[in-house]
Amino acid sequence: MSETLFIDIIERRIPADIVYETETVLGFRDINPQAPHHVLFIPKQKIRTINDVTADNAATVGELFIAAASYAKGIGVADDGYRVVMNCNEAAGQTVFHIHLHFLAGRNLSWPPG
Ligand code: 5GP
Repeated sequence: MSETLFIDIIERRIPADIVYETETVLGFRDINPQAPHHVLFIPKQKIRTINDVTADNAATVGELFIAAASYAKGIGVADDGYRVVMNCNEAAGQTVFHIHLHFLAGRNLSWPPG
C-alpha cells in the first residue's frame, strides 16, 4: 500500500472522515472498521514504523495516546473501555508505513488478538 496514503489524507488530497485534529495529530475513521468506533490516530510528522521511534519524536508519539484518551472521553467510552493497537511491519499486519494508533471501541474485544 502507498507509503504516502496518510500524508495524502493529512494534506486533504484524499478524503477521510476526520474526527480529531491538533497541530501534530490527525484522527480519522478507518475505511474498514473492525468495531463500532474504529479511528486511526496518526502523527502529521512521518514516522514509518515503531522501529523509527526515538527520543527525538517520542513526544509526538505520546500525543497519539493523549488523542486517543481525549477522544474516548468525548464519545463516552473511557470508563467502559477501549483498545489501542499499533502494528509494526508485515508479520504484525502493518500495511500503511506511517505509524497509526488504531482506536477500537463500542463492542467487547477479545484477547488474545488473532
Ligand atoms: P495497518 O494494517 O497498517 O495496521 O492499518 C492500516 C489501516 O488503514 C487499515 O485498518 C485500513 O482499513 C486503513 N486504511 C487503508 N486505506 C485507507 C484509506 O484510504 N482511508 C482510511 N480512512 N483508512 C484506510
